[in-house]
Amino acid sequence: MAVEEAKKIITSYYGPRIRIMEVCGTHTHEIFRLGIRNLLPENIELISGPGCPVCVTQVGFIDEAVMLALEKGCTICSFGDLLRVPGTEMSLAQARAKGADVRVVYMPLDAVKIAQENPDLNVVFLAVGFETTTPISCMAVEKAVELGLDNFSLLTANKTMPEAYKALKESADAFLYPGHVNAITGTEVCKRMRDEEGVSGVVTGFTASELLTALAVIVKKLPEKKPFFVNCYPRVVKEEGNRKAVELINKVMEPCDAEWRGIGVIPGSGLRLREKYSSCDARKKYSLPEIKGRSNPACRCGDVLRGDIKPYQCKVFGKVCTPQHPVGACMVSNEGACSAYYQYGGGMIE
Ligand code: SF4
Repeated sequence: MAVEEAKKIITSYYGPRIRIMEVCGTHTHEIFRLGIRNLLPENIELISGPGCPVCVTQVGFIDEAVMLALEKGCTICSFGDLLRVPGTEMSLAQARAKGADVRVVYMPLDAVKIAQENPDLNVVFLAVGFETTTPISCMAVEKAVELGLDNFSLLTANKTMPEAYKALKESADAFLYPGHVNAITGTEVCKRMRDEEGVSGVVTGFTASELLTALAVIVKKLPEKKPFFVNCYPRVVKEEGNRKAVELINKVMEPCDAEWRGIGVIPGSGLRLREKYSSCDARKKYSLPEIKGRSNPACRCGDVLRGDIKPYQCKVFGKVCTPQHPVGACMVSNEGACSAYYQYGGGMIE
């Protein structure tokens, strides 16, 4: 569909109010950045979803990582965003200020290298993410096993999307499915959502033309009142997905229940290491107790992630909670909804 045609369909929509959930945090940011929100008529509402891995990571996970760093003397390796996510008592950045060995890495394999070069360190990589990044954590585990390292492990909080779609299906009339995730999983999951759950959605990419086309398809198809799925990102998302990556995930990890920040436990929506790889499981290796984290009572990340409120409806948005001093995870990550609203709207949008 041509961009001008897509724009015309969107801007001339006068039907009943429709709610579209941007599952992916990068979609939220790109829609803001490209000014697409300014084109939307009042009766098309975009709501942010749970597709930012840092945002949905449970508070207790940060507490576990802090415990590994401060009490068990481990070297924690993580992607940068996670360091500033508040835990119950402190963030990993604050643990580092207290003397913990917390390092930012760009790839899980970097953490394996640190373990290999420093046999006296007990290195733990914080494995957070969806189907997109889980394969590289699995690669790191396989590499550590191949090298015979006994000082490398993963603390897992990996999550998968299909069960989350089901849990959130009443929150929106249609999903903008995350293109990066579907590049790995393929489109079967979206077709199942359509056929078995009656959920409509469109998978799309991240350019203005891809996003506008996807929105126009939703606007055009919703009034037909028949569940639909359209792949608007065929240059990247193939029906079969990335089989090698999926096989690797299935080889190293198995499904488990997972807690999503603010949403609660979604059965079958997480991944943990298979028994065969239990020597790389930090929870087992360091006998971590079960930790129930507590988020700041003022933080409404859960309501934001479910699409129940807009970030600026949180009382501390932009006042106490800013990207420099985040109170909740959604203000930390580049993919977080609160961060997007702060960066592009300052609370004045809508
Ligand atoms: S503005 Fe801050 S405290 Fe409020 S929901 Fe967002 S991240 Fe949480």
